[in-house]
Amino acid sequence: MTTRAEKAEAKLAVVDSMLLEIWVAYNRIGDALKMVKREHTERIICPSCHKEQVATVEHTWPFYSYVHFCECGYTIMESEWEKVKE
Ligand SMILES: [Zn+2]
Repeated sequence: MTTRAEKAEAKLAVVDSMLLEIWVAYNRIGDALKMVKREHTERIICPSCHKEQVATVEHTWPFYSYVHFCECGYTIMESEWEKVKE
């Protein structure tokens, strides 16, 4: 017959192995995320000062983020995103 202490110890062992599995999965996700490209750059033209510049497009989910702050103070949003053809 198992004692109360033995039962508690068995439960702790199960929790321990679960925590280890979670830790391993967490690290695998972290490694996978590091391999995925999170952003890219594009040459765009500011609709306000017409200056050509490099803007960063962030690969957010579910849509990429097209926001760039121009030196002239203008905030370029997706609707005004004018990509320079290379
Ligand atoms: Zn500008």
